[in-house]
Amino acid sequence: MKNRMFDVVIVGGGISGCALTYLLSKYTDVKSIAVLEKYDSLAPLNSNARSNSQTLHCGDIETNYKLEKAKLVKRQANMLVNYAKTVDINDFLYKFPKMILAVGDDECERLEKRHHEFAEAFPYMELWDAERIAEVEPAVALIDGKPRPEKIMASGCTDEYCAVNFGHLSKSFINSARKTNTEINVSLSSEVEKISKFDDHYELVTPQGTFMAKFVVVSAGAHSLLLANQLGHGLDLSILPMAGSFYYVPKMLNGKVYTMQNDKLPFAALHGDPDLVEMEKTRLGPTALVLPKLERYTKGTYLDFWRSLKLDRKVIRVFWDLMKDSTIRNYIFRNFAFEIPIIRQKLFAKDAQKIIPSLKAEDLEYAKGIGGLRPQVINKTTMVLQLGEASIMPENENLIFNMTPSPGATTCLGNAYRDTKIIAEQLGLNLDIEQLANDLLDGQDFD
Ligand SMILES: Cc1cc2nc3c(=O)[nH]c(=O)nc-3n(C[C@H](O)[C@H](O)[C@H](O)COP(=O)(O)OP(=O)(O)OC[C@H]3O[C@@H](n4cnc5c(N)ncnc54)[C@H](O)[C@@H]3O)c2cc1C
Repeated sequence: MKNRMFDVVIVGGGISGCALTYLLSKYTDVKSIAVLEKYDSLAPLNSNARSNSQTLHCGDIETNYKLEKAKLVKRQANMLVNYAKTVDINDFLYKFPKMILAVGDDECERLEKRHHEFAEAFPYMELWDAERIAEVEPAVALIDGKPRPEKIMASGCTDEYCAVNFGHLSKSFINSARKTNTEINVSLSSEVEKISKFDDHYELVTPQGTFMAKFVVVSAGAHSLLLANQLGHGLDLSILPMAGSFYYVPKMLNGKVYTMQNDKLPFAALHGDPDLVEMEKTRLGPTALVLPKLERYTKGTYLDFWRSLKLDRKVIRVFWDLMKDSTIRNYIFRNFAFEIPIIRQKLFAKDAQKIIPSLKAEDLEYAKGIGGLRPQVINKTTMVLQLGEASIMPENENLIFNMTPSPGATTCLGNAYRDTKIIAEQLGLNLDIEQLANDLLDGQDFD
């Protein structure tokens, strides 16, 4: 593949890169797209089913979202549900019961208030008492057949899509893209080592040769920032890689059970989920642990961590501000302890008993090799740890760099649509917004 020119080159064959390949090929008249993936398969890292919680985040059970964010995420999540209707083989989208569980008087009061506030946007959610919870999830409501002692309440539903194998979905996007008139070139084992800018194109150096592009989108997870920095962009950003681990228990839950978020804590509260690749088990987690590497279960990337952290006074100041808060500090230390072999089961069991009160430390098995890494972005200009997704879109360039922690897999088509609009405008492509809105957005484009 020496010096071949493509209209668009996408770096990263995770869910973000694959979703963009699909939208561009299906709804624009782009002639050629190359997808360059470092490893020898699509979705090998965070988009793989073993790396994430496999949740289609609709905003209904995520108490860390305010109503506006929940409504937006719901529309983006719905794009995946609508996409699934267009394919012959759907091996990625599943229905299970799901709920937010409140435990104790204070949480029950907060949940009831939230349920009513969100009712118009999520009319299918029902307010459940302990008896109804016991029907849907006996292990949550009962201990040895008797009601658990604390007051519990849930906001839940039983007939909505809520679980996705994002690895399978990534492959489905590429298969669908290949059915269009666009030339799709997926190049595996093609780590992009360098991107250079020329007058009217970019060149990307990989072990498989050099790829030329009129537009480059880098959706390389935590590595996106390093590639941006190489070209002099995003120098005011750093990456803080937050690993998430899980524990297995034998199947105890029928669906997804999310807990109430502590507003002070930056990462999602503990939840229990079915595991689409280990259906006889229930997965509990994720934990949150800062790791000094950019990929979870691969060799190396320690040096890349330091290069993308760019430790300086400002980064230290952001850490300091986080650690000053005792709730966050305790949470960080506790999550660190969840990784220490001898004590971790006992400690984790205490937290997990909020979901399954009869659970014992002996029931828990640390899920080896499961759990990916969220590339959280530190903005050194605003001095904050950004919790959502971040993109760098340099002015007067045909370049986009995406960093997508949770819920980046759910919002893949929403993000891809945003990028598709930019690419179509820059390259003068026709974008069939009406068709896209009819297929994926129930006929109504985003505002
Ligand atoms: C513990 C955990 C739980 C999560 N749970 C959920 C959930 O339930 N629901 C949800 O919506 N989201 C969840 N997420 C987030 C979700 O996994 C990510 O947002 C999503 O997978 C990001 O996809 P991506 O394609 O942007 O990145 P990735 O999947 O990380 O893909 C990036 C790709 O780029 C490749 N790459 C890197 N560098 C190069 C290079 N130089 N050249 C070529 N290729 C390169 C990598 O090999 C990789 O394949 C979770 C994340 C974690 C860690």
